[in-house]
Amino acid sequence: MVLADLGNQISSALANMSNSTIINEETIDTLLKEVGNALSRADVSLKLIIQMRKNIKEQLKLDAMAAGLNKRRIIKKVVFDELIKLLDPGVAPWKPTKGKSNIIMFVGLQGAGKTTSVTKLASFYKRKGWATAMVCADTFRAGAFDQLKHNATKAKIPFYGSDTDRDPVAVAKKGVDIFKKDGAEIIIVDTSGRHKQEEELFKEMKEIETVVKPDNVIFVMDSSIGQAAFDQATAFKNSVSVGSVIITKMDGNSKGGGAISAVAATKSPIIFIGTGEHIPDLDLFDASSFVSKLLGMGDVKGMMNMIADVVPKDTKALEEIASGKFTFRNMKQQFLQILNLGPIDKFVQMMPGMSNIPQLQGDAGNLKLKAYINILDSMSDGELDGKHQITPQRILRIARGSGRHPREVAELVEQKKAFEKMFSKGPGLQNLANMAKGGVP
Ligand code: GDP
Repeated sequence: MVLADLGNQISSALANMSNSTIINEETIDTLLKEVGNALSRADVSLKLIIQMRKNIKEQLKLDAMAAGLNKRRIIKKVVFDELIKLLDPGVAPWKPTKGKSNIIMFVGLQGAGKTTSVTKLASFYKRKGWATAMVCADTFRAGAFDQLKHNATKAKIPFYGSDTDRDPVAVAKKGVDIFKKDGAEIIIVDTSGRHKQEEELFKEMKEIETVVKPDNVIFVMDSSIGQAAFDQATAFKNSVSVGSVIITKMDGNSKGGGAISAVAATKSPIIFIGTGEHIPDLDLFDASSFVSKLLGMGDVKGMMNMIADVVPKDTKALEEIASGKFTFRNMKQQFLQILNLGPIDKFVQMMPGMSNIPQLQGDAGNLKLKAYINILDSMSDGELDGKHQITPQRILRIARGSGRHPREVAELVEQKKAFEKMFSKGPGLQNLANMAKGGVP
């Protein structure tokens, strides 16, 4: 993912700032220039970058900062928060209501990934226990009906569409009426796209919106769209009442900046990102987790959710970690459980310090975790339980014992420190404390 480059560039700009001997206006200007250039290379619109730089400058009045304050930390925090702000319009995401038929309408250009995302979202709600149905009102694209029908069969989700009726408004209305009568709780309507924004498309969208009266309109955008994203998202927002955004193909080579522009244009939150062509490839989106991951700080919130999904609750290890003690032995237990049960590549990418290493995707993530377990296997009980410091001599011995490179052992030691830091405060600790009590983070 090219977004990793953006993360690396911003992280290194922050590191340069941290390493400079004095912090003055010039250091801040250099940092802001580097961050701005990185965002610009990722296709974030210039207007947004200028605004962001202005916001940061306003918050960082060096003269007003009391002596003794950790300026570097404050600067980092302000940059981090402003990056989150770019991705978070400050609007709570729409949620369906129990006891009624919630109607969701999808809009977007042809090829954006609308039809694929309709099935992904329908499956998401089905897994959560909602009675879900899909309607194909895309009568424009030959094959749309068959594609959604095929997906619906695969995902075992009720479906309505017509390969003879060419009137999308009539098809949408009929499908929604049928499923409302059936008592479906989530009805997702897929609409036509066009190759480019055309009057005809917007007219059709408005008509469908009028008859199906959606509770939420989701705008689907391909993440690789680049600088055109802002205008495209604005055009859709001006036609129908877009309430949420799904950004697709985040697994590809996209620069990702378009996602940021779409949020600014629609003032709507990104609710999911598409990360592949298959039905489970849909990730819940959280701006703060995303930025943490981008900057290599790890996505502790996401990681905790994943651990909660796969690790049996009330384990002693969780209690220990929650009480502030995190040992190599805890780390090994967590790794083993994740390896046995979980989607490893995603987990590895969420780990603090590893999230922006693109080489760790797919099988590589799996192998990395296994290598770490080998290293942990070569540690003595004293080392595992934190009774001995891992000195350079010990690193060499552990490396020899596990057949891994000493650099990798040192990397694992750094990993543990990063975990410890994450668990010692913030959402990580709170989540763990909840999990140890049997709650959901
Ligand atoms: P629509 O015209 O907007 O309905 O687009 P489709 O749903 O037919 O998707 C267009 C192409 O993009 C298809 O080949 C999909 O498999 C692919 N696609 C959709 N979402 C994703 C995604 O998140 N990642 C990847 N890699 N491909 C996707």
